[in-house]
Amino acid sequence: MKSGIIRIRLPYMRPIVATDIDEVLVPFLESGFFPWYNARNGTDYQREDVTRSYRLHENLGNTGEYWVGQMRLFFLDGGLRRLGVMDNAQEMVAQLARIADVHAVTARPVEWHEDTMTHMNEHFPQVRDTHSLEAYLAHGKKAQKCLELDARVMIEDSKDYARECVDAGVQVILMDAPWNQGALPSGVYRVYSWREIPALVRRLL
Ligand SMILES: [Mg+2]
Repeated sequence: MKSGIIRIRLPYMRPIVATDIDEVLVPFLESGFFPWYNARNGTDYQREDVTRSYRLHENLGNTGEYWVGQMRLFFLDGGLRRLGVMDNAQEMVAQLARIADVHAVTARPVEWHEDTMTHMNEHFPQVRDTHSLEAYLAHGKKAQKCLELDARVMIEDSKDYARECVDAGVQVILMDAPWNQGALPSGVYRVYSWREIPALVRRLL
């Protein structure tokens, strides 16, 4: 018998689809962080003010560390538990879960994981598992997790994470947002609503 490492994918194994959480399943800025921040700082930041990238310091000033610190305060104030859900996301994730195992892959800190799980279990029970990568402002961790999971498709809103995933050979569905406008690399497909996603995933699997 020939020895060696063989990658086996049995016919009954379902394809894996990965999805980001913030701004894909959950409107983090609009339903949580900005209302919390504005109330404390007398600002009027809106989702539409974030147009350069999803890094807040590139849009609103201050430093990356400042915003990471503010997000931690938001978390410590129980903010994650008050977040909403994106339009149609619950129904469409339930549809996806009929044809694939859906894994949430988030850049959120490990410290947030318990609250993240509480929110996910309550609103997205069809998601099989949630992976907190502590990857905000970091490069390569999302692509690496997609490869570990053997995900064929990643659903994202960040062009930076989209690029690292396609570079690693993972197709990306990009949820349209003010911060991800402009041309996209080959293998990245822009959508404007969760309603478009199950049919597109079916085509890509
Ligand atoms: Mg996101």
